[in-house]
Amino acid sequence: MPEGDTVWNTARALHRALSGGRLTATDFRVPQLAGTDLVGWTVRDVVSRGKHILLRLADPTNAQRLTLHSHLRMDGAWRVYPPGARWAARPAHLIRLVLRTTDAIAVGYHLHEVALAPTAREDELVGRLGPDLLGPDWDPTEAVRRLAAHPDTSIAEALLDQSSLAGVGNLYKSEVLFLRGVHPWTPVNAVPNLPSVVALAQRLLAANRGRWVQSTTGSLHRGQTTYVYGRRGQPCRRCGMLVEKAEQDERVTYWCPRCQPAPDRTH
Ligand SMILES: [Zn+2]
Repeated sequence: MPEGDTVWNTARALHRALSGGRLTATDFRVPQLAGTDLVGWTVRDVVSRGKHILLRLADPTNAQRLTLHSHLRMDGAWRVYPPGARWAARPAHLIRLVLRTTDAIAVGYHLHEVALAPTAREDELVGRLGPDLLGPDWDPTEAVRRLAAHPDTSIAEALLDQSSLAGVGNLYKSEVLFLRGVHPWTPVNAVPNLPSVVALAQRLLAANRGRWVQSTTGSLHRGQTTYVYGRRGQPCRRCGMLVEKAEQDERVTYWCPRCQPAPDRTH
């Protein structure tokens, strides 16, 4: 599951490659937009909202504004290539979208929820999103309020709910809870300091903005970038206890049973 910082980085890479450019060719390989032709349109900007990517376009007369929406989910990716590069290295059947300008080729692989809508209504494309951890309008108080509105939900599940706060995936969820010493199945209303959990999630994502290696430990060395995420059966970096893992659908959680003791269930 791509985390908010990966989506933010992707949007920035697309923005740098395409914004200000005029589309010279477009190829929509998704049934709902088959035959769509945006040649002549200008890319105004590309932004992320939580895990959604919004590519904003203006028509040749600058009278009409459209937003092209895509979502990476588990397996999607955008790649940018210089003109003339051998970009079709990955299987062609995974390609959903190709956008060309004179300066760059942007290829979207395995994208989800590809949609086009008037920019004035782009909010409808992203659904009900909570405050964006990496957005210009980040509002920690509102994020805490929305989380607290689900008092009986486990904190691990609550942090993934993009309608409470947008941007946290399995990696940051696991790492934040480890660093705060909170067991993943603690109900939200029993988490000792919810504002500090939210603040730390934002700091960790923001620290990794602008680079593709995600580190919560401060180390960028392979195998040393996380405390618990991806480390099942390995010793906790703090106490030596073996890290545990639980999996449910696309959700996966890692934790240290000693540093993150289970909440008291006797009450
Ligand atoms: Zn530990």
